[in-house]
Amino acid sequence: MDRHRPRGMRTGTKDKGTDVNLTTSRMATVVLAVILWAHRLDAQAGAFPGRRVVAPAAFPAGRKPLVLVQYDMEGLSGQTDWRTQEYRFSFIAGQMYELVAKRGIKPIYPEIWAQGQALLAADVNAVVDGLFAAGAGAVDVIDKHGSGSPEVDLPPDKLDRRARHLLPKQVAEIKRSQHDAVVLVAQHVSTGTFGFSPHTGNPGTMIRMNGMSITETDLFTFTWGDLGFPVILVSGDDQLGIDVKNKTPWVEYVSVKQAVGPDSALLRPVADAHDDLRRGARRALENRAQWRVVTLKGPIDVTTCAIPPASMELLAGLPATEYRDGCLFFRSSTFDNAWRSTRTVINLAAASGYNWILLSTILEEPRGLELLDRINENVGKVWFETEKKRISR
Ligand SMILES: [Zn+2]
Repeated sequence: MDRHRPRGMRTGTKDKGTDVNLTTSRMATVVLAVILWAHRLDAQAGAFPGRRVVAPAAFPAGRKPLVLVQYDMEGLSGQTDWRTQEYRFSFIAGQMYELVAKRGIKPIYPEIWAQGQALLAADVNAVVDGLFAAGAGAVDVIDKHGSGSPEVDLPPDKLDRRARHLLPKQVAEIKRSQHDAVVLVAQHVSTGTFGFSPHTGNPGTMIRMNGMSITETDLFTFTWGDLGFPVILVSGDDQLGIDVKNKTPWVEYVSVKQAVGPDSALLRPVADAHDDLRRGARRALENRAQWRVVTLKGPIDVTTCAIPPASMELLAGLPATEYRDGCLFFRSSTFDNAWRSTRTVINLAAASGYNWILLSTILEEPRGLELLDRINENVGKVWFETEKKRISR
């Protein structure tokens, strides 16, 4: 099976044939056409052909803004080595986290990982400093990276003391809270795009919604937009900067490095990048008239595709979807539903594709076949033990 044949992503796909009910689909198309026409004047530079809605953000006068800083780790200043963003095993769709935590497994490259954490702390702290200089009332920080570490990637004791690092379990709390604006630090371009560490959700998985190519930055913009929060500042490499400026020209962008390939970048002096992050944060917070809440309204036609190391092949035949040439097409009523389904699909595509590499890697080892046989025996053991327990109940 030629699983690793690279496949291009189709462009301009209309995602037809994904509907169970064709009449509903036609009506929806007519309604969508009317809405698109109505929103034509609102469309910003034509960057989003879909039902993207851009609205000024309301900011209550008489109090200091509360800001949420969300970080990733691929768009750090001073970073050219992808190992600075990896703790361990994060490529297996997050499945190893629990085992890493339980067994106290250490990072694969401890010194390089420590460098990555220091770079991360420095970028986030520069932003936090700029936000407070511009009069922020409070700054909360959350980890949205996924290095494979059982802990948050920015050690809370390295964070500027004026800010508060929230734990993943507090994220639900954030969704009910009253933040005024969101900052996205150290972001990256999407899978299949030129830039440093290009990926969307996972290496090899890509997403289109209503015909537009979607980056993680877009996903966060819509996610926070649904909750009424505007994204006001993004940082990352020069290539993501082009995408952000094209789609959301009102958002402050700080380019901290120049991508020269998926695994290399030309660095700016780190002190200069930090000065820009500080200044960018300050400008972003002060220019409240520029704040925009961006939402993506349904129905949303989703295309998820996989290129190696991910694979979509095992997902062909899922209900309410259509599979074609390494891509899965489906329709969702809201952005929230679209993202939930997309996340499941891209994680399965990642696990499925990486499993192929896992098996091939094991077989390259001298005792690889023996190890695979043991895995097979363990599957059998779990199988029969589970069945026996069910009977004895
Ligand atoms: Zn990341």
